Amino acid sequence: MLAALEFESSVRLSAVPLLLHQQAMQLAIAAARANRFFPFGAVIVRAADRQVMATGVNNGSTNPTLHGEIVAINDYVARHGNRGWEKVILYTTGEPCPMCMAALAWTRIGGVVYGTSIEKLCQFGIDQISIPASAVIAAAPFYRGEILGPVLADETDALFLDRERLPMAGA
Ligand SMILES: [Zn+2]
Repeated sequence: MLAALEFESSVRLSAVPLLLHQQAMQLAIAAARANRFFPFGAVIVRAADRQVMATGVNNGSTNPTLHGEIVAINDYVARHGNRGWEKVILYTTGEPCPMCMAALAWTRIGGVVYGTSIEKLCQFGIDQISIPASAVIAAAPFYRGEILGPVLADETDALFLDRERLPMAGA
């Protein structure tokens, strides 16, 4: 029945072995290294066979809305079309900001796994809107996906702490 398909549950993140989450996060970390100032990287992995379907890294210098997750969403659509979202998981080095988490909810992606929390990103001096991704999900009852984190935070925290700093204007 179509109604049953529509409400088919997304990926159960807790049913995926942690090692597989960590391996995918390593790929997100590798992607993030392409931006040494804002090392926000993301990969979209198909849950069933762990195939990497899309990749993204923050490209805010080109367009302020091009966070890593948005770049990965756009890469996914370019390569695979606007379908199959419920079967894939996005891995991101930083907890999705409200803009990205809302965009991810609209895709109805199967699940989201992050490294460093928004709270930590604030502590590291990176501008953030302090709304947890879980709060965005809670406010989107149509969205069935789960969120999991922090995963490999020791490594993603180091990525953000070791980032290169842009020279302060007027400093
Ligand atoms: Zn974002």
